[in-house]
Amino acid sequence: MITGKLSHLESQYDVTIVGGGPAGMAAALGARENGAERILIVDREKEPGGILLQCIHPGFGLHTFKEELTGPEYAQRYLEKVIEEHVDVISDTYVLDIDRELNVKLMSPTIGVKIIKTGAVVLAMGARERTRGAIRIAGTRPSGVLNAGLAQKFVNMMGYLPGKRVVILGSGDIGLIMARRLTLESVEVMGVFEIMPYSNGLNRNIVQCLHDFDIPLHLSHTVAEIHGRDRVNKVTVAPVDEKFRPLASKGWDIPCDTVLLSIGLIPENELSRHLNLRMDPTTGGPVVNSQMETSKDGIFACGNVVHIHDLVDFVSTEARLAGQSAGEYATGHRRPADNIRLVTGENVAYTVPHTISTDREHTVYMRTRKPMESCRIRLGSVYEKKLRYVFPAEMVSLKVQPKFLQDFHDEQLRIDILPAEGEA
Ligand SMILES: Cc1cc2nc3c(=O)[nH]c(=O)nc-3n(C[C@H](O)[C@H](O)[C@H](O)COP(=O)(O)OP(=O)(O)OC[C@H]3O[C@@H](n4cnc5c(N)ncnc54)[C@H](O)[C@@H]3O)c2cc1C
Repeated sequence: MITGKLSHLESQYDVTIVGGGPAGMAAALGARENGAERILIVDREKEPGGILLQCIHPGFGLHTFKEELTGPEYAQRYLEKVIEEHVDVISDTYVLDIDRELNVKLMSPTIGVKIIKTGAVVLAMGARERTRGAIRIAGTRPSGVLNAGLAQKFVNMMGYLPGKRVVILGSGDIGLIMARRLTLESVEVMGVFEIMPYSNGLNRNIVQCLHDFDIPLHLSHTVAEIHGRDRVNKVTVAPVDEKFRPLASKGWDIPCDTVLLSIGLIPENELSRHLNLRMDPTTGGPVVNSQMETSKDGIFACGNVVHIHDLVDFVSTEARLAGQSAGEYATGHRRPADNIRLVTGENVAYTVPHTISTDREHTVYMRTRKPMESCRIRLGSVYEKKLRYVFPAEMVSLKVQPKFLQDFHDEQLRIDILPAEGEA
């Protein structure tokens, strides 16, 4: 694998990118396209590539490269381009802080603490997993309870198996992928338990990771209690009522030595909070305009740090735009400000970006609150499109053309996802 080693670090850059995952690498290429000359990617891990390096399963790049790649292959393709474009990449280096004058404080075993000056910043720090504390599972605190993504790192990168009989709580994509991965390693996967009445993972993962391997998915069920002193020895699982409370009388015990949690990702936004960026409480990430610029001039954001993506291809598209905008900003070219605020309506949990403008095409990403079949997406009174179905686990993307907006003069545009006309 090409690793992108940096021989020396400049003291000034046009664009500095925090995080060398798929978002950071695509942002660097975008910045180069739009005129930035000195570009730096900083990543705290030993190698750039982000979460992709532990995702050795196929399923990446279907949109971007029109072929099915593994995570490391997808990362490699981007890293090769990044190196070809002479972007500086420094790994094993942590971005400690960024101040309002865009001084970036770095720390690493090789360079110590160093402050560099930059013309624009792109935040691409990714996300981390929610842990047991976030959902307060009753029971003891033995070893053997870990996050599915950490288990993935153990198995795929370090060669350790987390246990022999596993129960998975939560049907997020990482849990589904680990159900299959552990089964292939001869671990007994006793089932996936999901508190919601629908899965939180992509449909293709339910089919390819559970159905194809006869692993049961229990919807509207949860792990009500974890048992064991030093190590997990069993869990009590139970169905839940409409308020998500476990129905103890209907519960049963499953002997196991490991519980994997796949209960969601949290955007990694300590730096954003330090910078006092305006945040969206629904996404957990910064509020961004149609250029992926945050509430602070010159600070752009993209990828999982803004909102959690299910497909890496969307990360790369969004990040390229953030990088292009950062490149324009650093070279003194600014686009006119947005003039329309997007407002979430019926069955729309959030939109990214949060504002758009009437003068160009935009891709608006959104998530729904609940599944719906045969429905329509309505953009105020200016545009409507039929959708076969929507599902909270699958991000909806909508291209908004300037022609829809030519007669629109309000400051706010409401987006709704409604039943198809004629359906209740
Ligand atoms: C387990 C799993 C399976 C997936 N499977 C698929 C799939 O099959 N197909 C698909 O299309 N998508 C899949 N995805 C989704 C996709 O991989 C992610 O959406 C994508 O990796 C997010 O990219 P990112 O660059 O925003 O974040 P990340 O890949 O997380 O990269 C962020 C980087 O920033 C670094 N960083 C953070 N803070 C700092 C700091 N302060 N200083 C320096 N560096 C920092 C991190 O170390 C990391 O390297 C999967 C995701 C996961 C977690």
